[in-house]
Amino acid sequence: MNTIEHWINGVATPAGSTRTAPVYNPATGRQRAEVLLAEASDVDTAVAAAGKAFESWGNSSLSQRTKVMFAFRELLVQHEDELARLISGEHGKVVDDARGEVVRGREVVEYACGIADALKGSFSDQVSRDVDVHNFRQPLGVVAGITPFNFPIMVPLWMHPIAIATGNTFLLKPSERDPSASNLVAELYAEAGLPEGVFNVVHGDKTAVDAILDHPDIAAVSFVGSTPIAKYVHQRGTAAGKRVQALGGAKNHAVVLPDADLEYAADHLTAAAFGSAGQRCMAISVGVAVGSAGDKLVEILERKAREVKVGPGSDPASDMGPVISPAARERVAAAVAGSGTQGATVVVDGRGLQVEGHEEGFFIGPSLVDNVTPEMDAYREEIFGPVLVIVRAETVDDAIAIINANPYGNGTAIFTASGEAARKFQREVKVGMIGVNVPVPVPMSYYSFGGWKDSLIGDSPIHGPEGVRFYTRAKVVTTRWPHTEAAFTFPTST
Ligand code: NAD
Repeated sequence: MNTIEHWINGVATPAGSTRTAPVYNPATGRQRAEVLLAEASDVDTAVAAAGKAFESWGNSSLSQRTKVMFAFRELLVQHEDELARLISGEHGKVVDDARGEVVRGREVVEYACGIADALKGSFSDQVSRDVDVHNFRQPLGVVAGITPFNFPIMVPLWMHPIAIATGNTFLLKPSERDPSASNLVAELYAEAGLPEGVFNVVHGDKTAVDAILDHPDIAAVSFVGSTPIAKYVHQRGTAAGKRVQALGGAKNHAVVLPDADLEYAADHLTAAAFGSAGQRCMAISVGVAVGSAGDKLVEILERKAREVKVGPGSDPASDMGPVISPAARERVAAAVAGSGTQGATVVVDGRGLQVEGHEEGFFIGPSLVDNVTPEMDAYREEIFGPVLVIVRAETVDDAIAIINANPYGNGTAIFTASGEAARKFQREVKVGMIGVNVPVPVPMSYYSFGGWKDSLIGDSPIHGPEGVRFYTRAKVVTTRWPHTEAAFTFPTST
């Protein structure tokens, strides 16, 4: 049995861990490895290594940091296929989808390659007689990232390239369900010339997370995961005096107006709802069919949902793989069953699907549920599986009101031919990331990613300019040359 170890101070290490967790191949249902689960002492070891490394990395030149980022970026290109297959084998998503994740994560490294520009301060000449003011930003020290299972490489890549390029040292606690990609990333950083101790990986569960949140030598924590844990991490981390950014769960709505190209909208809704078996924080899980769009839209969606090819992620013919665990499959099945008993119409029922040759895999087919109302559990809960629920609305105003009453506010989309409706939608909807005829509007790396309401706890979105701000703090320097006589009056501009 392959044991996945921590990566501390530039080497794979068992540290003091004795507990382990199984890592499965969701397509076969078989265990493929075990991962060490860190104790608080392992976190201490990694933080000590990162703290030591910060002494020199925090003072390294922008050229040195940029050089490492360029080399790391090239290695991510070279290892794209290997990374995608590793992710697919532990997460279950199809290899092409995993490749997309590697590419979107790599774009953050490309942003970090331009860190010299992003970190430029400003200068004001002659704010008073013979006085100038400039500002600049400095790294925080040792910072940590705690990440979810659904994007085992992209979400950590939202964090560490920017943290490291701005001069911090980093401790990653990835999901224990698909941990391997993080160790390969650590090896690639080492090959790229990153000094020992700058990037560390500690695998684990709540014990490791709590040790990170309480550790006095960790200055900031980035978290991405479900909302209850995001709230917990934010509360405990800030109580310990840390900077915390915590991105939570989602329930993303796509509004379809009668003037939209319904075939186009249905195509995109199908891919956005069932891609990665619905296990994306930006997945569309609610379709809001407005007015006369409803019946026709559901008819096309039914056809397309039935056409989705479900199979192992390693098979290029598969559109959609399994879900992450038997528990996730049970949760999805219960949501579909519950929506039926609460009065919704189960149009396509993915329960009971068997994939030939993979009978032990964690598969469940796509489900489409119509006539769902906001009171029903299938609407209120984040199912995080291949279920698309349809809510009917009379007007675009009704659709906006439904979205705004939802506690989540990660992403949303509108499908329409009307610029006027699209403009109204983007101005009035209380959601952080909006697509116009784009179902999964994940911002490019040079913008920042973050939702509103229960999808983002605290006030800091991730990567892009907000990432640079999060991982640094500012100094403002007021300078006078040459020395003039000191005065006892309060300084004013003269
Ligand atoms: P999760 O909240 O269960 O786990 C996230 C991380 O927290 C993992 O590293 C896990 O080990 C740790 N964790 C789990 N339980 C904990 C506990 N009780 N105490 C301390 N730490 C704990 O999330 P998940 O199931 O891995 O991922 C899916 C969730 O992540 C979904 O809710 C999804 O919407 C969300 N997500 C959000 C975004 C976003 O950008 N907003 C992106 C990806 C995923």
